[in-house]
Amino acid sequence: MNLRPEPLAYELSAPGRCGAALPEPDVPETALPKALLRDDLPLPEIDELTAVRHFTRLSQKNYSIDTEFYPLGSCTMKYNPKVNEAAASLPGWRTTHPLAGAEFSQGALELMYRLQAMLADIGGFKAASLQPAAGAHGELAGVLMIRKWHRDRGDLKRVKMLIPDSAHGTNPATCSMVGFETLTIPSAADGGVDLAALESALDDTVAGIMITNPSTLGLFERNIERIAKLVHDAGGLVYGDGANLNAITGIFRPGDAGIDVMHFNLHKTFSTPHGGGGPGSGMVAAGERLADYLPGPVAVRKDGRFDMAMPTASIGRLKAFHGNFGVLVRAYTYIRMLGAPGLRRLAETAVLNANYLKAKVEKVYPLKYGRGCMHEFVAMGTVAEGVHTLDIAKRLIDYGFHPPTIYFPLIVPEALMIEPTETETRETLDAFADALVKIAEEARSDPELLHSAPHVTPVGRLDEVAAARCPILCYRG
Ligand SMILES: *Cc1c(COP(=O)(O)O)cnc(C)c1O
Repeated sequence: MNLRPEPLAYELSAPGRCGAALPEPDVPETALPKALLRDDLPLPEIDELTAVRHFTRLSQKNYSIDTEFYPLGSCTMKYNPKVNEAAASLPGWRTTHPLAGAEFSQGALELMYRLQAMLADIGGFKAASLQPAAGAHGELAGVLMIRKWHRDRGDLKRVKMLIPDSAHGTNPATCSMVGFETLTIPSAADGGVDLAALESALDDTVAGIMITNPSTLGLFERNIERIAKLVHDAGGLVYGDGANLNAITGIFRPGDAGIDVMHFNLHKTFSTPHGGGGPGSGMVAAGERLADYLPGPVAVRKDGRFDMAMPTASIGRLKAFHGNFGVLVRAYTYIRMLGAPGLRRLAETAVLNANYLKAKVEKVYPLKYGRGCMHEFVAMGTVAEGVHTLDIAKRLIDYGFHPPTIYFPLIVPEALMIEPTETETRETLDAFADALVKIAEEARSDPELLHSAPHVTPVGRLDEVAAARCPILCYRG
């Protein structure tokens, strides 16, 4: 990696230098309208090679799953198979237009129809909608469905949503957006939901519970059926945060345990790209109680033809057109490539990899909840006085690894949340565990090495709060 500080394109500019040759105009030249011109907006003058080098160098500074191990807990950074890309770029998919109408889109509608059915089946649900564009968007869909279900029954006093204290921050944020109050349910000593606390919170003001299983502690909620029954008996509904489905595909179906509605992160479990790598999908599936409330339109089959239709009690549309269609093609490809046995095997391997890594790491980094983990585990960076998890995470960058998720879940002090996924080799897991063990030794012998890390990147410790609150989005020379 080239460690020189990167100049900005404007700083590479030289007067009169040019990277483009325009052909002679075949129409008379006229001046641009004054309103379109800004004297205060000079464009960089730059030759082609300098521009190519500039952007290629910047692209090489990206860290990606295609170059290195990415054990970011709760994010399921598995490999995105290239066959997904090949399928999504087939001309029939790529050039189809969302306004073409059902008559000219039978293939695309059939793919969506089949994908809805496959995902509903994987989760143990009655029906699915592919509209939501991210997990948090799926949560919004599900909680709006729960709210409408209560309202349609004239039950207006249910304004509270119960959320375990290990939950992802999007869960309470979703509730606030929908206008629900949240009530935090503490975890029991084994990391599961504290059933006594749950029972005492249940009354006729509770709309439901949002529950993540396996939880963000990487633990399977053994009382899930009990929890769903308690909430149902009190008149509430159960939202499943399905972000951790990677641990249980083909083994356990949340719908069978009483979950009423759940989002699936296609960009986690079903190998489509995350975030900057592409748009996401947080599609939702629902059981008997809520299937008619799904957002729409959804793909339907009538007299052997495919079309789009609104579910009868739908909360309405959440996304333009039909969701992120290119992502749906990728997820469909992935599921069809694996088949049912492959889906089961991916979960088994994800859990095996996480337990293998946990066994190597926990000798040095203690765990608050020690029982066997699912697809991820949460260790603690309490290896030496004066050294924190942030220092360990930054030092991992020097060893060539993307750091795990840190300081989450909030209930584990100095949390390091590690999710290797099923796609990593044993050699990679060994190398990562060795780096963590070595860093723990450094933390004791030379803590300054950790405090000043990373040493190999163009920038080291950034002000993350300022970056989020006051981002600098345009160039000021
Ligand atoms: C990733 C995640 C979400 C949110 O999903 P996005 O697609 O990032 O919006 C919600 N809950 C859990 C547990 C997650 O890991």
